[in-house]
Amino acid sequence: SPSIHWFRDDLRLADNPALAAAVAAGPTLCLYILDERPERRPLGGASRWWLSRSLAALSSELERRDGALLLLRGDPETLLPKVAEMIGAALVTWSRRYDGDSVALDARIKSELQNGGRQVSSFNAALLNEPWQVTTKTGDPMKVFTPYWRAARARGEPPAPLPAPVRIATPALPAGLTALAVTREDLALEPHAPDWAGGLREAWTPGEAGAAAALEHFLAGPLAGYGEDRNRPDLASTSRLSPHLRFGEIGPRQVWHATHSAVESGAAAAPESDAEKFLSEIGWREFSYHLLFHNPDLATRNYNPRFDAFPWRHDDAALEAWRRGRTGYPIVDAGLRELWTTGWMHNRVRMIVASFLIKHLLIDWREGEAWFWDTLVDADPANNAASWQWVAGSGADAAPYYRIFNPVTQGLKFDPRGAYVRRWIPEIAALGDAEIHEPWKASTAILRRAEIELGVTYPRPIVDLDAGRQRALAALAATKG
Ligand code: FAD
Repeated sequence: SPSIHWFRDDLRLADNPALAAAVAAGPTLCLYILDERPERRPLGGASRWWLSRSLAALSSELERRDGALLLLRGDPETLLPKVAEMIGAALVTWSRRYDGDSVALDARIKSELQNGGRQVSSFNAALLNEPWQVTTKTGDPMKVFTPYWRAARARGEPPAPLPAPVRIATPALPAGLTALAVTREDLALEPHAPDWAGGLREAWTPGEAGAAAALEHFLAGPLAGYGEDRNRPDLASTSRLSPHLRFGEIGPRQVWHATHSAVESGAAAAPESDAEKFLSEIGWREFSYHLLFHNPDLATRNYNPRFDAFPWRHDDAALEAWRRGRTGYPIVDAGLRELWTTGWMHNRVRMIVASFLIKHLLIDWREGEAWFWDTLVDADPANNAASWQWVAGSGADAAPYYRIFNPVTQGLKFDPRGAYVRRWIPEIAALGDAEIHEPWKASTAILRRAEIELGVTYPRPIVDLDAGRQRALAALAATKG
């Protein structure tokens, strides 16, 4: 009798144990449900675009193996049991998710299906370790990354990835079910008027093949030197795997094994230390999921409750200037424009823009989290929330509250020739390396030659760095005490 594999954040065929179990048991209905329950946090615009393209890629991969992807929209809690009933499914499988809403939803659906006499099997496709498998000696959740990662590593190598199923037979679909099905166009996930996704299309190839190509490219090149260069937004030195990992087009077990074998075989000209550094970033992702699982409201509530009394400012004009990349600080503006155009921002620049919003502008980290949620193609319930809290100082193992990035110093250090700023802020590109990170210091003659009129063609700084820093330190010190 037939099985159902319910695809969610595991949009791949290889190393997908839940899919493999369904296929081993019988003809498999592959299902994706666009979850439209009002209590579910809706996907942001950039994530919707990615999802649409990823579903298209998944659908063609399935068809190449005689399978098919059925799309539905609505409430999975009513739809999944209904579909199982319609096709007489004996087994329903899925890959686990770890946010509070999903954990509760999955438990309800599981018991409903089991009450209907069906077998339900869930698997781990997203993480090296389940969030509950890594604990302190006394069995409590971990709060600090280094011991977390040490304990995770001590659990040994992750299992070798599974191959993709060779053939995926599809059960006959009753007419009632085909009538429920929608097309990808019906889901209206991609923007039309206006179509703002041109930069995304240019930058990315969503889907399992795109993910594999990104990993291969990274291992063959940028991995060598990653430990040093990963902080440089002017160099293409990181893997850009984040959206692929977010949607499960590739899993961390695959990344782990491919990285080790590339280094051991010599296919990557990188020393073991670069591989270890890279895998420890995958470790930060694991740690974020650990935090999210144990703190389901990580995106909305301060992990450290002392921050609940923090005197955030409400300043719509400043917030809008930040969102649009018009703060007058080139490295900040470059990052926010890279985000707006490509749906991605370099990690170092994410830290700089987040610190600027929270500390220099004194705007609630949740405003930044929400903007990233809407605009990032890798917007991730665990990584985004944990990282914003990390920068705010309100999180677990967070940056100390007095660490306030100076955007000029950061720019000079990590974009030393200004190439990153020039790429994203063409209106100041004619400035020399000495002024590119602080155009307000350029002489009138230089500005005139570069055809820049501060306050007209490019903004003057919206906040004074010293004054902003003092204001933040005062507010943070009061909160701390
Ligand atoms: P690489 O350097 O190649 O790292 C490989 C993978 O490790 C990444 O794809 C990612 O899955 C993981 N990773 C790397 N750095 C981190 C980190 N600091 N924390 C957690 N996981 C990490 N990452 C997201 O995936 N989604 C988000 O929504 C997100 N929001 C962020 C918000 C802020 C304010 C900050 C400071 C960081 C955020 N990050 C987020 C983490 C990090 O910036 C991105 O994962 C990274 O830039 C992705 O680029 P990459 O794939 O080339 O990274």
